[in-house]
Amino acid sequence: MTKRWMVYASLLLVLTLGLMGCGGNQQSAKVLKVGAEATFAPFEFQDEKTKEYVGFDVDIMKAIGKQMGMEVQIVNTGFDGLIPALEGSQIDVIASAMTITDERAKKVNFSKPYYKSGLSMVVKADNTTIKDFKDLEGKRIAVQIGTTGAEAAKKIKDAQVREYNSASEAFLELKAGGADAVVNDLPVNEYYLAKAGSKEAKLVGDVLDAEEYGIAVAKKNTELAGKINKALDEIRQNGEYAKIYEKWFGKKPQ
Ligand code: GLN
Repeated sequence: MTKRWMVYASLLLVLTLGLMGCGGNQQSAKVLKVGAEATFAPFEFQDEKTKEYVGFDVDIMKAIGKQMGMEVQIVNTGFDGLIPALEGSQIDVIASAMTITDERAKKVNFSKPYYKSGLSMVVKADNTTIKDFKDLEGKRIAVQIGTTGAEAAKKIKDAQVREYNSASEAFLELKAGGADAVVNDLPVNEYYLAKAGSKEAKLVGDVLDAEEYGIAVAKKNTELAGKINKALDEIRQNGEYAKIYEKWFGKKPQ
């Protein structure tokens, strides 16, 4: 009896090890789970036809993954849920047009900057009263929750800041007349205007705060942070970075 149980037990062990060997474990080690809030064109969004995740960040992460011999899987996550997802190990990396800030750097490891950005403001095309950030005092401002745009809007005196889960919802609110302005990342505003057309909305005022985007990994994951920085250097050197930049922004990187 005991002997038979031992046979069963070792069979089970062999089976389990076998399954682990050719299945899940080995494969998941090769997959880099990238968290992104995927309604932020042109950085991360879903292709309308194919439903695939596309954008500058997606291509950059694929190029980085290639250097590291890993496959990239996009995990669409609300912007304010990205850092908690990283801390909870549901994702390995955040690549979501995330600005490197001191506050965030307390919780995550940022890569070297990979994109220079800034905040700007969009108003309705027929608005003649808002020309600059100082004109936003007491106004209704639509922003995406948890972003640097939301932070900046909250600093404006008497402003009524309305927070949405995505930048596209903030733009919709402006269109519907529920907000006087949207404060958001300049390249995303530009992309929106290029798509929506100049009849709908316009960009006004100076660009606020030079910001830089970084790829984030968990605080404890210094090894992965090093690998990502190395791969970033490599794709800058082999021309892949410039190629991707031109594809999405139609110009050479600054
Ligand atoms: N760059 C902004 C930030 O980090 C917005 C990013 C985003 O909405 N994806 O807060």
